[in-house]
Amino acid sequence: MSKVLCVLYDDPVTGYPKSYARDGVPTIKSYPGGQTLPTPKSIDFKPGQLLGSVSGELGLRKFLESLGHKLVVTSDKDGANSTFEKELPDASIVISQPFWPAYLTEERFKKAKKLELAITAGIGSDHIDLEAAMRHGVTVAEVSYSNSISVSEHVVMMILSLVRNYIPSYQWVVKGGWNIADCVERSYDLEGMNVGTVAAGRIGLAVLRRLKAFDVKLHYTDRYRLSPDVEKELNLTFHPNVESMVKVCDVVTINCPLHPETEHMFDDKLIAKMKRGAYLINTARGKICDKDAVARALENGHLAGYAGDVWFPQPAPQDHPWRTMPYHGMTPHVSGTSLSAQARYAAGTREILECWFGLRPIREEYLIVDGGHLAGTGAHSYSAGNATSGWEEANKYRTGAR
Ligand code: NDP
Repeated sequence: MSKVLCVLYDDPVTGYPKSYARDGVPTIKSYPGGQTLPTPKSIDFKPGQLLGSVSGELGLRKFLESLGHKLVVTSDKDGANSTFEKELPDASIVISQPFWPAYLTEERFKKAKKLELAITAGIGSDHIDLEAAMRHGVTVAEVSYSNSISVSEHVVMMILSLVRNYIPSYQWVVKGGWNIADCVERSYDLEGMNVGTVAAGRIGLAVLRRLKAFDVKLHYTDRYRLSPDVEKELNLTFHPNVESMVKVCDVVTINCPLHPETEHMFDDKLIAKMKRGAYLINTARGKICDKDAVARALENGHLAGYAGDVWFPQPAPQDHPWRTMPYHGMTPHVSGTSLSAQARYAAGTREILECWFGLRPIREEYLIVDGGHLAGTGAHSYSAGNATSGWEEANKYRTGAR
């Protein structure tokens, strides 16, 4: 019998939904490039249900209990007295989502003597000290591609909302106004702008493809170049480094993982190299940007806007400067947890568990750490190390806003 400890975000303040705005989600046959969708033997949920919150349980309870395993689900994840810390010592498997991450640090690995597998239900395992996972022989897996397209759609939405000044315009309506000049004094067309992505992996490339229709000039930087065919198809300009790209871009979108190489990449120095009036969109990870440098650049007018859904730590404390800085379009971490995405990563989590309990290999593309090394996707896209330092601040978040 294994104990599976699952950390999920809270149910809606109005309670777990009894009905939904739509009757389901479209069926997707495969991901771009041909990767297959998750292939669990079966699922015990209806796609389109809320699965990522505590009562949704990622649709796993029936399956796990039918195999004789124990499932513990909680949202109480930070601090020494949290349910997570109390349940950790005899857990064999930990599951958590990047939106409401259960930070797995060296101290917690030391307490988790029985831990063998840490699953990220979603993409991005930077809330896990990967170096420590390697040392403690814990396998780390995530559900690659499950929400990449979800995020790419969010990126396009955020670029447009900043450039067109959508959020303040919406707010004028809610306030009862008709203040056209107030709305348009910061509103531009995206057409003709130079837009660049830091990383052209699954999300970055999907963003580039979606933006092509807007008649913009597209740029990218990555550790590896895309194929000449793709570069030609999208008329891409490749930059060997991020500095060269940000100098010429009106809009920069960040789509690389957080690992020691990318931590605080956007600091005062790099932001100073961006064009005055540029927009920065970050749906990758909060810590890729220096939070105070971003706030300063918005206040002094060097950046015209910043938007994203990723913060560090998560949940962001009430005094996090990104809640109050000017010209921002921040949301909580939601882009990868649409109901559509949840159906895919819940199914992927189930597939990983079926493989694990059935002693079958987990797909290479889902592996981040295995056998004491970076493996699969982890070996390609991450670097060894730890990007969790400072996570304790998450404990400052108070649920008063609920
Ligand atoms: P991929 O693994 O497909 O792409 C990541 C890309 O980043 C790869 O092309 C990788 O290069 C590149 N990369 C890594 N390090 C660097 C670097 N130092 N400079 C430039 N490029 C770099 O992942 P996805 O596109 O699916 O996801 C990317 C990230 O987005 C995730 O790691 C996660 O942090 C975030 N994300 C956010 C979500 C949200 O809800 N907001 C949901 C899903 C993901 P290569 O492999 O060529 O070495």
